[in-house]
Amino acid sequence: MSYEAIWAKNQRLNDVEIIKLEKDGLDVIETIIDKYSKEGYDSITPKDMNRFKWAGVYEQKPREGYFMMRVRINSGIMTSEQAKVLAGIAKDYGRGIANASTRGAIQFHWVQVEDLPSIYERLEACGLSPFEACGDCPRTIVGNPLAGIDKDELMDTTELVEQVNNFFLLNKDFSNLPRKFKISISASIHNAAHAQINDLAFTPATKKIDNQDVIGFHVWVGGGLSASPHLAQKLDIFVKPEYVLKVAEGVCTIFRDYGYREKRTRARLKFLVADWGAEKFKNKLLEFTGDMPSSGDDKLASWNASYYFGVHSQNEDGKSYIGVSLPLGEITCDQLLELAHISEKYGDRKIRTTLSQNLIITGISDEDIPSLLKKDVFKQLSPNPSIFTGYTISCTGKEFCNLAIVETKKRAKEVIEYLDSKIKLDTPLRIHFTGCPNSCGQKHIADISLQGALIKTEDSCEEAFTIWLGGTLNNGGQFAENLNYRVKSTEVHIVLEKIITFFEKSKLENETFNEFIARVGISKITENI
Ligand code: SF4
Repeated sequence: MSYEAIWAKNQRLNDVEIIKLEKDGLDVIETIIDKYSKEGYDSITPKDMNRFKWAGVYEQKPREGYFMMRVRINSGIMTSEQAKVLAGIAKDYGRGIANASTRGAIQFHWVQVEDLPSIYERLEACGLSPFEACGDCPRTIVGNPLAGIDKDELMDTTELVEQVNNFFLLNKDFSNLPRKFKISISASIHNAAHAQINDLAFTPATKKIDNQDVIGFHVWVGGGLSASPHLAQKLDIFVKPEYVLKVAEGVCTIFRDYGYREKRTRARLKFLVADWGAEKFKNKLLEFTGDMPSSGDDKLASWNASYYFGVHSQNEDGKSYIGVSLPLGEITCDQLLELAHISEKYGDRKIRTTLSQNLIITGISDEDIPSLLKKDVFKQLSPNPSIFTGYTISCTGKEFCNLAIVETKKRAKEVIEYLDSKIKLDTPLRIHFTGCPNSCGQKHIADISLQGALIKTEDSCEEAFTIWLGGTLNNGGQFAENLNYRVKSTEVHIVLEKIITFFEKSKLENETFNEFIARVGISKITENI
Protein backbone atom coordinates (compact mmCIF):
# COMPACT_ATOMS: atom_id res chain seq x y z
CA MET A 1 0.00 0.00 0.00
CA SER A 2 1.61 3.24 -1.13
CA TYR A 3 -0.77 5.81 0.31
CA GLU A 4 -1.83 7.04 3.73
CA ALA A 5 -5.34 6.10 4.85
CA ILE A 6 -6.25 9.68 5.70
CA TRP A 7 -9.66 8.64 7.01
CA ALA A 8 -8.17 6.35 9.69
CA LYS A 9 -8.39 9.04 12.38
CA ASN A 10 -12.08 9.71 11.74
CA GLN A 11 -13.89 8.80 14.98
CA ARG A 12 -17.21 8.20 13.23
CA LEU A 13 -16.21 5.42 10.83
CA ASN A 14 -18.81 2.69 10.33
CA ASP A 15 -18.16 -0.89 11.50
CA VAL A 16 -17.08 -2.19 8.09
CA GLU A 17 -14.49 0.60 7.87
CA ILE A 18 -12.97 -0.57 11.16
CA ILE A 19 -12.82 -4.14 9.86
CA LYS A 20 -11.10 -2.97 6.67
CA LEU A 21 -8.55 -0.91 8.61
CA GLU A 22 -7.69 -3.86 10.85
CA LYS A 23 -6.97 -6.12 7.90
CA ASP A 24 -7.25 -5.41 4.19
CA GLY A 25 -10.03 -7.28 2.43
CA LEU A 26 -7.55 -8.83 0.00
CA ASP A 27 -5.61 -10.44 2.84
CA VAL A 28 -8.49 -12.81 3.46
CA ILE A 29 -7.60 -14.71 0.28
CA GLU A 30 -4.44 -16.06 1.89
CA THR A 31 -6.31 -16.87 5.10
CA ILE A 32 -8.92 -18.80 3.13
CA ILE A 33 -6.26 -20.85 1.36
CA ASP A 34 -4.02 -21.45 4.41
CA LYS A 35 -6.59 -21.77 7.18
CA TYR A 36 -10.31 -21.78 6.47
CA SER A 37 -10.22 -24.26 3.59
CA LYS A 38 -8.51 -26.70 5.97
CA GLU A 39 -10.37 -25.93 9.21
CA GLY A 40 -13.82 -25.51 7.65
CA TYR A 41 -16.82 -23.21 7.80
CA ASP A 42 -17.15 -23.15 11.59
CA SER A 43 -13.63 -21.73 11.98
CA ILE A 44 -14.42 -18.54 10.00
CA THR A 45 -14.50 -15.43 12.21
CA PRO A 46 -17.34 -12.93 11.67
CA LYS A 47 -14.87 -10.23 10.57
CA ASP A 48 -13.23 -12.48 8.00
CA MET A 49 -16.67 -13.58 6.82
CA ASN A 50 -17.24 -9.93 5.96
CA ARG A 51 -13.91 -9.84 4.11
CA PHE A 52 -14.78 -12.99 2.09
CA LYS A 53 -16.37 -10.64 -0.47
CA TRP A 54 -12.91 -9.54 -1.61
CA ALA A 55 -12.23 -13.21 -2.35
CA GLY A 56 -15.31 -13.22 -4.62
CA VAL A 57 -17.67 -15.08 -2.30
CA TYR A 58 -20.76 -14.20 -0.29
CA GLU A 59 -22.32 -16.43 2.31
CA GLN A 60 -25.61 -17.67 0.90
CA LYS A 61 -28.90 -18.23 2.69
CA PRO A 62 -29.52 -20.12 4.93
CA ARG A 63 -26.21 -19.73 6.78
CA GLU A 64 -25.26 -23.41 6.63
CA GLY A 65 -21.81 -23.31 5.08
CA TYR A 66 -22.54 -22.56 1.43
CA PHE A 67 -21.36 -19.59 -0.60
CA MET A 68 -22.15 -17.77 -3.81
CA MET A 69 -19.03 -17.22 -5.92
CA ARG A 70 -18.83 -14.51 -8.58
CA VAL A 71 -16.27 -14.61 -11.40
CA ARG A 72 -15.26 -11.40 -13.21
CA ILE A 73 -15.79 -11.46 -16.98
CA ASN A 74 -14.26 -8.30 -18.39
CA SER A 75 -16.65 -6.64 -20.83
CA GLY A 76 -18.54 -9.95 -20.73
CA ILE A 77 -16.03 -11.56 -23.10
CA MET A 78 -14.66 -15.02 -22.27
CA THR A 79 -12.86 -17.58 -24.39
CA SER A 80 -14.41 -20.96 -25.12
CA GLU A 81 -11.64 -22.47 -23.00
CA GLN A 82 -12.68 -20.28 -20.05
CA ALA A 83 -16.33 -21.19 -20.63
CA LYS A 84 -15.38 -24.87 -20.36
CA VAL A 85 -13.62 -24.22 -17.05
CA LEU A 86 -16.70 -22.35 -15.75
CA ALA A 87 -18.91 -25.24 -16.88
CA GLY A 88 -16.61 -27.63 -14.99
CA ILE A 89 -16.81 -25.55 -11.80
CA ALA A 90 -20.61 -25.42 -12.08
CA LYS A 91 -20.67 -29.20 -12.48
CA ASP A 92 -18.23 -30.04 -9.69
CA TYR A 93 -19.12 -27.40 -7.10
CA GLY A 94 -22.29 -25.54 -8.15
CA ARG A 95 -24.88 -28.31 -8.49
CA GLY A 96 -24.66 -28.04 -12.27
CA ILE A 97 -25.89 -24.45 -12.65
CA ALA A 98 -24.18 -21.17 -13.53
CA ASN A 99 -25.87 -17.76 -13.53
CA ALA A 100 -25.12 -14.68 -15.63
CA SER A 101 -25.33 -11.51 -13.52
CA THR A 102 -26.57 -8.05 -14.52
CA ARG A 103 -22.90 -7.00 -14.76
CA GLY A 104 -22.00 -9.84 -17.09
CA ALA A 105 -20.22 -11.83 -14.38
CA ILE A 106 -20.78 -15.57 -13.91
CA GLN A 107 -22.00 -16.79 -10.51
CA PHE A 108 -22.26 -20.17 -8.82
CA HIS A 109 -24.13 -21.18 -5.70
CA TRP A 110 -23.44 -24.05 -3.27
CA VAL A 111 -19.68 -23.48 -3.15
CA GLN A 112 -17.98 -24.68 0.06
CA VAL A 113 -14.95 -23.14 1.72
CA GLU A 114 -12.96 -26.41 1.49
CA ASP A 115 -13.18 -26.21 -2.30
CA LEU A 116 -12.14 -22.59 -2.75
CA PRO A 117 -8.40 -23.24 -3.31
CA SER A 118 -9.12 -25.74 -6.10
CA ILE A 119 -11.60 -23.36 -7.72
CA TYR A 120 -9.11 -20.50 -7.50
CA GLU A 121 -6.47 -22.67 -9.16
CA ARG A 122 -8.78 -23.66 -11.99
CA LEU A 123 -9.76 -20.05 -12.60
CA GLU A 124 -6.22 -18.73 -12.45
CA ALA A 125 -5.02 -21.38 -14.89
CA CYS A 126 -7.45 -20.12 -17.53
CA GLY A 127 -6.94 -16.40 -16.82
CA LEU A 128 -10.13 -15.70 -14.87
CA SER A 129 -10.52 -14.25 -11.38
CA PRO A 130 -13.20 -14.05 -8.71
CA PHE A 131 -11.15 -11.63 -6.63
CA GLU A 132 -12.76 -8.26 -5.96
CA ALA A 133 -15.86 -9.35 -7.88
CA CYS A 134 -17.55 -8.34 -4.60
CA GLY A 135 -16.43 -6.01 -1.79
CA ASP A 136 -15.58 -2.29 -1.45
CA CYS A 137 -13.29 -2.20 -4.46
CA PRO A 138 -13.29 -1.83 -8.25
CA ARG A 139 -15.70 -4.53 -9.47
CA THR A 140 -16.08 -6.35 -12.79
CA ILE A 141 -15.67 -3.79 -15.57
CA VAL A 142 -18.68 -3.76 -17.87
CA GLY A 143 -18.24 -2.94 -21.54
CA ASN A 144 -19.49 -3.62 -25.01
CA PRO A 145 -19.93 -7.41 -25.24
CA LEU A 146 -19.51 -7.06 -29.01
CA ALA A 147 -16.19 -5.22 -28.68
CA GLY A 148 -13.99 -5.99 -31.66
CA ILE A 149 -16.76 -7.34 -33.90
CA ASP A 150 -19.32 -4.55 -33.59
CA LYS A 151 -20.42 -2.55 -36.61
CA ASP A 152 -21.69 0.14 -34.26
CA GLU A 153 -18.65 0.91 -32.13
CA LEU A 154 -16.12 3.70 -32.62
CA MET A 155 -13.22 1.52 -31.53
CA ASP A 156 -12.46 -1.90 -30.07
CA THR A 157 -12.33 -1.37 -26.29
CA THR A 158 -11.18 -4.90 -25.37
CA GLU A 159 -7.60 -3.94 -24.57
CA LEU A 160 -8.58 -0.76 -22.71
CA VAL A 161 -10.86 -2.77 -20.44
CA GLU A 162 -8.08 -5.31 -19.86
CA GLN A 163 -5.62 -2.52 -19.08
CA VAL A 164 -7.91 -0.88 -16.51
CA ASN A 165 -8.85 -4.26 -15.03
CA ASN A 166 -5.21 -5.33 -14.70
CA PHE A 167 -4.29 -2.05 -13.01
CA PHE A 168 -6.97 -2.28 -10.31
CA LEU A 169 -7.20 -6.04 -9.74
CA LEU A 170 -5.41 -7.05 -6.48
CA ASN A 171 -3.98 -3.51 -6.25
CA LYS A 172 -3.85 -2.70 -2.54
CA ASP A 173 -3.84 1.02 -3.27
CA PHE A 174 -7.49 0.63 -4.31
CA SER A 175 -8.77 -2.36 -2.35
CA ASN A 176 -10.17 -0.26 0.51
CA LEU A 177 -12.73 2.08 -1.02
CA PRO A 178 -15.71 3.49 0.90
CA ARG A 179 -18.01 1.17 -1.10
CA LYS A 180 -18.15 -0.78 -4.33
CA PHE A 181 -16.83 1.02 -7.44
CA LYS A 182 -18.39 0.16 -10.79
CA ILE A 183 -16.69 1.06 -14.06
CA SER A 184 -18.21 0.98 -17.56
CA ILE A 185 -16.07 1.36 -20.72
CA SER A 186 -17.74 1.10 -24.10
CA ALA A 187 -17.43 2.67 -27.54
CA SER A 188 -20.80 1.30 -28.69
CA ILE A 189 -23.16 3.99 -29.94
CA HIS A 190 -25.99 1.99 -28.32
CA ASN A 191 -24.83 2.55 -24.74
CA ALA A 192 -24.07 -1.15 -24.44
CA ALA A 193 -22.67 -0.86 -20.90
CA HIS A 194 -25.43 1.15 -19.15
CA ALA A 195 -23.16 4.18 -18.69
CA GLN A 196 -25.42 6.33 -16.50
CA ILE A 197 -25.80 3.78 -13.68
CA ASN A 198 -22.07 3.29 -13.06
CA ASP A 199 -19.78 5.13 -10.65
CA LEU A 200 -17.50 5.89 -13.60
CA ALA A 201 -18.35 5.49 -17.27
CA PHE A 202 -16.57 6.14 -20.55
CA THR A 203 -18.85 6.63 -23.57
CA PRO A 204 -17.94 7.15 -27.24
CA ALA A 205 -17.15 10.66 -28.44
CA THR A 206 -15.10 12.45 -31.07
CA LYS A 207 -13.34 15.81 -31.09
CA LYS A 208 -11.47 17.87 -33.63
CA ILE A 209 -7.97 18.35 -32.26
CA ASP A 210 -5.30 20.03 -34.43
CA ASN A 211 -7.68 19.67 -37.39
CA GLN A 212 -7.87 15.93 -36.89
CA ASP A 213 -11.02 14.01 -35.94
CA VAL A 214 -9.97 12.13 -32.83
CA ILE A 215 -11.91 9.18 -31.38
CA GLY A 216 -12.11 9.11 -27.60
CA PHE A 217 -14.50 9.17 -24.70
CA HIS A 218 -16.74 11.31 -22.59
CA VAL A 219 -16.63 10.69 -18.86
CA TRP A 220 -19.56 10.25 -16.50
CA VAL A 221 -19.34 9.97 -12.72
CA GLY A 222 -21.62 9.26 -9.79
CA GLY A 223 -24.26 6.93 -11.22
CA GLY A 224 -25.78 4.13 -9.17
CA LEU A 225 -29.07 2.52 -8.22
CA SER A 226 -30.14 1.00 -4.89
CA ALA A 227 -32.49 2.81 -2.51
CA SER A 228 -31.25 6.24 -3.63
CA PRO A 229 -30.73 6.09 -7.41
CA HIS A 230 -28.61 8.66 -9.23
CA LEU A 231 -27.91 9.08 -12.93
CA ALA A 232 -24.23 9.76 -13.58
CA GLN A 233 -23.20 13.32 -14.40
CA LYS A 234 -21.14 14.08 -17.48
CA LEU A 235 -17.83 15.90 -16.93
CA ASP A 236 -16.77 18.53 -19.44
CA ILE A 237 -13.69 16.66 -20.65
CA PHE A 238 -12.68 14.65 -23.70
CA VAL A 239 -10.42 11.68 -22.99
CA LYS A 240 -8.21 10.10 -25.61
CA PRO A 241 -7.97 6.30 -25.28
CA GLU A 242 -4.40 6.48 -23.95
CA TYR A 243 -5.62 8.57 -20.97
CA VAL A 244 -8.54 6.33 -19.94
CA LEU A 245 -6.50 4.53 -17.29
CA LYS A 246 -5.18 7.80 -15.84
CA VAL A 247 -8.73 9.14 -15.54
CA ALA A 248 -9.96 5.89 -13.98
CA GLU A 249 -7.12 6.00 -11.46
CA GLY A 250 -7.88 9.67 -10.70
CA VAL A 251 -11.60 9.13 -10.13
CA CYS A 252 -10.92 6.09 -7.97
CA THR A 253 -8.33 8.02 -5.94
CA ILE A 254 -10.82 10.84 -5.30
CA PHE A 255 -13.40 8.30 -4.23
CA ARG A 256 -10.94 6.54 -1.92
CA ASP A 257 -9.70 9.72 -0.25
CA TYR A 258 -12.81 11.93 -0.21
CA GLY A 259 -15.67 9.40 -0.29
CA TYR A 260 -17.89 9.15 2.78
CA ARG A 261 -17.06 6.44 5.30
CA GLU A 262 -19.41 7.24 8.16
CA LYS A 263 -22.67 5.72 6.90
CA ARG A 264 -22.72 2.74 4.53
CA THR A 265 -25.89 4.13 2.96
CA ARG A 266 -24.06 7.37 2.00
CA ALA A 267 -20.77 5.83 0.94
CA ARG A 268 -21.17 5.35 -2.84
CA LEU A 269 -19.43 7.86 -5.10
CA LYS A 270 -22.82 9.20 -6.22
CA PHE A 271 -23.26 11.04 -2.90
CA LEU A 272 -19.90 12.79 -3.18
CA VAL A 273 -20.62 13.78 -6.79
CA ALA A 274 -24.08 15.03 -5.85
CA ASP A 275 -22.59 17.17 -3.06
CA TRP A 276 -19.66 18.51 -5.07
CA GLY A 277 -21.32 18.90 -8.47
CA ALA A 278 -19.72 18.01 -11.81
CA GLU A 279 -17.56 21.16 -12.06
CA LYS A 280 -15.84 20.76 -8.70
CA PHE A 281 -15.35 17.05 -9.32
CA LYS A 282 -13.82 17.74 -12.75
CA ASN A 283 -11.41 20.30 -11.29
CA LYS A 284 -10.28 17.85 -8.62
CA LEU A 285 -9.78 15.20 -11.28
CA LEU A 286 -7.72 17.54 -13.44
CA GLU A 287 -5.40 18.17 -10.46
CA PHE A 288 -4.62 14.47 -10.72
CA THR A 289 -4.56 13.98 -14.49
CA GLY A 290 -3.33 17.35 -15.71
CA ASP A 291 -5.26 19.36 -18.30
CA MET A 292 -7.69 17.63 -20.62
CA PRO A 293 -9.57 19.03 -23.63
CA SER A 294 -13.21 20.03 -23.03
CA SER A 295 -15.89 17.61 -24.20
CA GLY A 296 -16.41 16.95 -27.91
CA ASP A 297 -19.26 15.40 -29.93
CA ASP A 298 -21.26 12.82 -28.08
CA LYS A 299 -21.72 9.64 -30.14
CA LEU A 300 -24.27 7.86 -28.01
CA ALA A 301 -27.27 7.34 -30.28
CA SER A 302 -29.56 5.05 -28.29
CA TRP A 303 -29.73 2.45 -25.55
CA ASN A 304 -30.09 -1.22 -26.49
CA ALA A 305 -30.67 -2.37 -22.87
CA SER A 306 -27.99 -5.00 -23.62
CA TYR A 307 -30.27 -7.22 -25.71
CA TYR A 308 -28.79 -9.07 -28.69
CA PHE A 309 -31.26 -11.87 -29.50
CA GLY A 310 -31.18 -13.43 -32.94
CA VAL A 311 -28.63 -13.66 -35.75
CA HIS A 312 -26.81 -10.45 -36.70
CA SER A 313 -23.96 -9.58 -39.00
CA GLN A 314 -20.60 -8.46 -37.61
CA ASN A 315 -18.10 -5.88 -38.84
CA GLU A 316 -16.39 -8.60 -40.87
CA ASP A 317 -18.16 -9.72 -44.07
CA GLY A 318 -19.50 -13.25 -43.90
CA LYS A 319 -19.46 -13.48 -40.10
CA SER A 320 -22.41 -13.31 -37.73
CA TYR A 321 -23.22 -13.66 -34.08
CA ILE A 322 -26.12 -15.45 -32.39
CA GLY A 323 -27.64 -13.90 -29.26
CA VAL A 324 -29.45 -16.47 -27.14
CA SER A 325 -31.76 -16.25 -24.15
CA LEU A 326 -30.83 -17.69 -20.75
CA PRO A 327 -34.20 -17.69 -18.99
CA LEU A 328 -33.68 -15.65 -15.80
CA GLY A 329 -29.93 -15.80 -16.37
CA GLU A 330 -29.53 -19.53 -15.65
CA ILE A 331 -27.53 -22.01 -17.71
CA THR A 332 -26.66 -25.63 -16.97
CA CYS A 333 -23.08 -26.85 -17.10
CA ASP A 334 -23.98 -29.08 -20.06
CA GLN A 335 -25.48 -26.19 -22.02
CA LEU A 336 -22.45 -24.00 -21.34
CA LEU A 337 -20.12 -26.80 -22.40
CA GLU A 338 -22.11 -27.36 -25.59
CA LEU A 339 -21.94 -23.63 -26.45
CA ALA A 340 -18.17 -23.70 -25.83
CA HIS A 341 -17.81 -26.62 -28.26
CA ILE A 342 -19.94 -24.83 -30.86
CA SER A 343 -17.84 -21.69 -30.41
CA GLU A 344 -14.66 -23.69 -30.96
CA LYS A 345 -15.90 -25.55 -34.01
CA TYR A 346 -17.88 -22.81 -35.75
CA GLY A 347 -17.10 -19.50 -34.07
CA ASP A 348 -14.19 -17.29 -33.00
CA ARG A 349 -13.70 -19.22 -29.74
CA LYS A 350 -15.45 -16.52 -27.72
CA ILE A 351 -18.66 -16.49 -25.71
CA ARG A 352 -19.99 -13.21 -24.41
CA THR A 353 -22.30 -12.42 -21.52
CA THR A 354 -24.72 -9.50 -21.71
CA LEU A 355 -25.96 -7.19 -18.96
CA SER A 356 -29.43 -8.59 -19.63
CA GLN A 357 -28.23 -11.97 -18.27
CA ASN A 358 -28.01 -13.59 -21.72
CA LEU A 359 -25.22 -14.95 -23.99
CA ILE A 360 -23.77 -14.30 -27.45
CA ILE A 361 -21.80 -16.74 -29.62
CA THR A 362 -19.65 -14.82 -32.10
CA GLY A 363 -17.61 -15.20 -35.28
CA ILE A 364 -19.82 -17.77 -37.01
CA SER A 365 -19.62 -18.11 -40.80
CA ASP A 366 -22.92 -17.15 -42.36
CA GLU A 367 -23.20 -20.46 -44.23
CA ASP A 368 -23.07 -22.41 -40.92
CA ILE A 369 -25.91 -20.48 -39.29
CA PRO A 370 -28.94 -22.43 -40.68
CA SER A 371 -27.63 -25.87 -39.64
CA LEU A 372 -26.35 -24.59 -36.29
CA LEU A 373 -29.72 -23.18 -35.34
CA LYS A 374 -31.20 -26.68 -35.58
CA LYS A 375 -29.04 -27.91 -32.69
CA ASP A 376 -30.86 -28.86 -29.51
CA VAL A 377 -29.07 -26.29 -27.37
CA PHE A 378 -30.65 -23.47 -29.39
CA LYS A 379 -34.07 -24.96 -28.73
CA GLN A 380 -33.35 -24.76 -25.00
CA LEU A 381 -31.59 -21.37 -25.16
CA SER A 382 -33.57 -19.71 -27.88
CA PRO A 383 -32.23 -16.96 -30.17
CA ASN A 384 -35.87 -15.87 -30.60
CA PRO A 385 -37.46 -16.21 -27.17
CA SER A 386 -41.03 -15.23 -26.44
CA ILE A 387 -41.26 -11.66 -25.13
CA PHE A 388 -41.69 -12.43 -21.45
CA THR A 389 -39.16 -15.27 -21.32
CA GLY A 390 -36.61 -13.20 -23.20
CA TYR A 391 -37.00 -9.84 -21.51
CA THR A 392 -37.48 -10.72 -17.84
CA ILE A 393 -34.62 -10.31 -15.38
CA SER A 394 -34.54 -11.46 -11.79
CA CYS A 395 -32.12 -11.10 -8.93
CA THR A 396 -31.38 -14.07 -6.69
CA GLY A 397 -34.04 -13.28 -4.11
CA LYS A 398 -34.90 -15.22 -0.99
CA GLU A 399 -33.64 -18.56 -2.28
CA PHE A 400 -30.01 -17.60 -1.63
CA CYS A 401 -29.76 -13.94 -0.62
CA ASN A 402 -29.58 -13.01 3.05
CA LEU A 403 -31.00 -9.54 2.37
CA ALA A 404 -34.03 -10.63 0.35
CA ILE A 405 -37.55 -9.91 1.54
CA VAL A 406 -39.27 -12.20 -0.97
CA GLU A 407 -38.77 -15.14 -3.31
CA THR A 408 -38.09 -13.87 -6.84
CA LYS A 409 -36.89 -16.42 -9.41
CA LYS A 410 -39.56 -19.07 -8.89
CA ARG A 411 -42.23 -16.39 -8.85
CA ALA A 412 -40.79 -14.78 -11.99
CA LYS A 413 -40.86 -18.16 -13.78
CA GLU A 414 -44.55 -18.61 -12.99
CA VAL A 415 -45.38 -15.06 -14.05
CA ILE A 416 -43.45 -15.40 -17.33
CA GLU A 417 -45.23 -18.63 -18.22
CA TYR A 418 -48.60 -17.08 -17.45
CA LEU A 419 -47.98 -13.90 -19.45
CA ASP A 420 -46.48 -15.79 -22.40
CA SER A 421 -49.61 -17.95 -22.52
CA LYS A 422 -51.96 -14.97 -22.35
CA ILE A 423 -50.42 -12.07 -24.26
CA LYS A 424 -48.65 -11.83 -27.62
CA LEU A 425 -46.83 -8.50 -27.78
CA ASP A 426 -45.12 -7.18 -30.91
CA THR A 427 -42.61 -5.08 -28.93
CA PRO A 428 -40.12 -6.02 -26.21
CA LEU A 429 -41.22 -5.26 -22.66
CA ARG A 430 -38.57 -5.51 -19.97
CA ILE A 431 -39.74 -6.81 -16.58
CA HIS A 432 -37.33 -6.89 -13.61
CA PHE A 433 -37.91 -8.79 -10.36
CA THR A 434 -35.85 -7.68 -7.39
CA GLY A 435 -36.05 -9.14 -3.90
CA CYS A 436 -35.38 -5.98 -1.86
CA PRO A 437 -34.65 -2.26 -2.39
CA ASN A 438 -30.97 -2.98 -3.15
CA SER A 439 -31.54 -3.16 -6.90
CA CYS A 440 -29.24 -6.00 -7.99
CA GLY A 441 -32.18 -6.63 -10.34
CA GLN A 442 -31.85 -3.01 -11.57
CA LYS A 443 -35.37 -1.98 -10.70
CA HIS A 444 -34.98 1.60 -11.84
CA ILE A 445 -34.23 0.95 -15.50
CA ALA A 446 -36.97 -1.59 -16.32
CA ASP A 447 -40.22 -0.98 -18.16
CA ILE A 448 -41.99 -2.74 -15.29
CA SER A 449 -40.26 -3.50 -12.00
CA LEU A 450 -41.39 -5.57 -9.08
CA GLN A 451 -39.62 -4.90 -5.80
CA GLY A 452 -40.00 -7.30 -2.88
CA ALA A 453 -42.16 -6.08 0.00
CA LEU A 454 -44.54 -7.43 2.61
CA ILE A 455 -48.28 -7.00 3.02
CA LYS A 456 -49.90 -7.24 6.44
CA THR A 457 -52.67 -9.79 6.65
CA GLU A 458 -54.95 -10.42 9.63
CA ASP A 459 -52.59 -12.70 11.47
CA SER A 460 -49.22 -12.29 9.78
CA CYS A 461 -47.37 -10.84 6.79
CA GLU A 462 -47.48 -12.07 3.21
CA GLU A 463 -44.88 -11.69 0.47
CA ALA A 464 -45.71 -8.93 -1.97
CA PHE A 465 -44.24 -6.59 -4.58
CA THR A 466 -44.38 -2.86 -5.15
CA ILE A 467 -44.66 -1.90 -8.83
CA TRP A 468 -42.50 0.61 -10.66
CA LEU A 469 -43.01 1.74 -14.26
CA GLY A 470 -41.22 3.45 -17.12
CA GLY A 471 -37.48 3.12 -16.44
CA THR A 472 -35.03 3.63 -19.31
CA LEU A 473 -31.53 4.83 -20.08
CA ASN A 474 -32.64 6.22 -23.44
CA ASN A 475 -32.55 9.97 -24.02
CA GLY A 476 -30.42 10.69 -20.98
CA GLY A 477 -32.25 8.26 -18.73
CA GLN A 478 -35.39 8.22 -16.62
CA PHE A 479 -35.80 6.08 -13.53
CA ALA A 480 -38.93 3.97 -13.09
CA GLU A 481 -41.72 5.66 -11.13
CA ASN A 482 -43.35 4.09 -8.09
CA LEU A 483 -46.96 3.20 -8.84
CA ASN A 484 -47.60 3.20 -5.08
CA TYR A 485 -49.39 -0.08 -5.44
CA ARG A 486 -48.60 -3.22 -3.45
CA VAL A 487 -49.67 -6.59 -4.80
CA LYS A 488 -49.44 -9.98 -3.13
CA SER A 489 -46.85 -12.23 -4.80
CA THR A 490 -49.54 -14.75 -5.58
CA GLU A 491 -51.49 -12.15 -7.55
CA VAL A 492 -48.73 -10.37 -9.39
CA HIS A 493 -49.40 -12.17 -12.69
CA ILE A 494 -53.00 -10.89 -12.73
CA VAL A 495 -51.99 -7.27 -12.14
CA LEU A 496 -49.25 -7.45 -14.78
CA GLU A 497 -51.71 -8.94 -17.25
CA LYS A 498 -54.03 -5.96 -16.70
CA ILE A 499 -51.24 -3.40 -17.11
CA ILE A 500 -49.81 -5.02 -20.22
CA THR A 501 -53.20 -5.63 -21.83
CA PHE A 502 -54.04 -1.95 -21.29
CA PHE A 503 -50.75 -1.05 -22.96
CA GLU A 504 -51.36 -3.45 -25.85
CA LYS A 505 -54.83 -2.02 -26.52
CA SER A 506 -53.94 1.66 -26.10
CA LYS A 507 -50.47 2.01 -27.55
CA LEU A 508 -49.75 3.90 -30.75
CA GLU A 509 -48.11 2.15 -33.67
CA ASN A 510 -44.50 1.24 -32.83
CA GLU A 511 -44.82 2.83 -29.38
CA THR A 512 -42.69 1.17 -26.72
CA PHE A 513 -43.94 0.61 -23.18
CA ASN A 514 -41.64 3.29 -21.90
CA GLU A 515 -42.89 5.85 -24.44
CA PHE A 516 -46.45 4.84 -23.61
CA ILE A 517 -45.94 5.48 -19.90
CA ALA A 518 -44.34 8.84 -20.64
CA ARG A 519 -47.35 9.76 -22.81
CA VAL A 520 -50.28 8.57 -20.67
CA GLY A 521 -48.75 8.93 -17.17
CA ILE A 522 -48.82 6.31 -14.44
CA SER A 523 -52.10 7.51 -12.94
CA LYS A 524 -53.85 6.11 -16.04
CA ILE A 525 -52.29 2.75 -15.21
CA THR A 526 -53.64 2.85 -11.66
CA GLU A 527 -57.12 3.45 -13.08
CA ASN A 528 -56.82 0.28 -15.14
CA ILE A 529 -55.78 -2.25 -12.51
FE1 SF4 B 1 -30.43 -9.83 -2.61
FE2 SF4 B 1 -31.75 -7.53 -2.67
FE3 SF4 B 1 -29.65 -7.93 -4.31
FE4 SF4 B 1 -31.92 -9.25 -4.76
S1 SF4 B 1 -31.65 -7.00 -4.87
S2 SF4 B 1 -29.87 -10.15 -4.76
S3 SF4 B 1 -32.66 -9.58 -2.70
S4 SF4 B 1 -29.59 -7.81 -2.09
